[in-house]
Amino acid sequence: MEIPEKMHAMVMEKPGFHLVDTILPVPRPNPDQVLVQINACGVCRTDLHIFDGELTHPKLQLVLGHEIAGKVVQVGEHVANFRVGERVGVPWLGYTDGTCAYCRRGQENLCDHPEFTGYTLNGGYAEYTVADHRYCFPLPPSYTDTEVAPLLCAGLIGYRTYRLAGENIERVGIYGFGAAAHIIAQVAVYQGKQVYAFTRPGDTATQEFARRLGAVWAGGSDDMPPVLLDAALVFAPVGPLMVSALRATAKGGIVVSGGIHMSDIPAFPYDLLWEERALKSVANLTRQDAIEFLEIAPRVPVKTAIETFPLDQANEALTRLKNGKIEGAGVLVISS
Ligand SMILES: [Zn+2]
Ligand SMILES: [Zn+2]
Repeated sequence: MEIPEKMHAMVMEKPGFHLVDTILPVPRPNPDQVLVQINACGVCRTDLHIFDGELTHPKLQLVLGHEIAGKVVQVGEHVANFRVGERVGVPWLGYTDGTCAYCRRGQENLCDHPEFTGYTLNGGYAEYTVADHRYCFPLPPSYTDTEVAPLLCAGLIGYRTYRLAGENIERVGIYGFGAAAHIIAQVAVYQGKQVYAFTRPGDTATQEFARRLGAVWAGGSDDMPPVLLDAALVFAPVGPLMVSALRATAKGGIVVSGGIHMSDIPAFPYDLLWEERALKSVANLTRQDAIEFLEIAPRVPVKTAIETFPLDQANEALTRLKNGKIEGAGVLVISS
């Protein structure tokens, strides 16, 4: 197919300033990269943290976006696992060195020299992008590109967060019921867990949404659940929720933060941590997380609630996300 010379991209010149609709050259793949024509790109809370300057080392100018679904239109000479015309997903983890101590022991999510899509590499708020084929994934055929985009970060990070809460849990609390939560709640229900959903106080619409997805209980984040939880996943970037979640867990309870950024966690009495409760965080993802999650999602099947925006309304999408106005996940729909 004919690859154009130029493309539209929504570019962040610097944090805090609106993304600017810009004409850029279509990038050319290096030997390890595929060129992807982007059909859909999810809008993730991490994009908002980068946009707001809370993650402090973005490349500039930057094309945000790391939940990319599209089609391979050109391949570098070392690319063996994708062909022109195939569907492809590009996630947050864009590159690892493969040689540091973390990579060598299977923790590539903690790599000392990583690259991240839509942060240190240009991402998916554009018509085209290049990506290292070793970090890309085939997409499950039962989803459209728009449906699958939120699975590529909200789903993957949600899944890793859930997995770090341990296998033998029955009652799992989810604090902050947005994109990641609504996906992982479906997986948890499918696996026979009881899901307790905590939303912004008074947000009865989201509580109802959580119940429709199978939560046995939904309430405000300032409420105590009717029973103590075995684990809690915290997706809202609000430090005090880590303490609320700890308070809601039983002995041995694990509280996992799924976010890349969070406001400060206030001091709390040791009694809340006592009895082998634990606080943890999730950083990034491994390729194995993606393989497992993309295998389980169609079996559930996970259904993504989506609000779509055209590419040139990326600023509106970020604003709605910031104000908690998106039920489920926001997705930029790019090629027509
Ligand atoms: Zn490494
Ligand atoms: Zn993300």
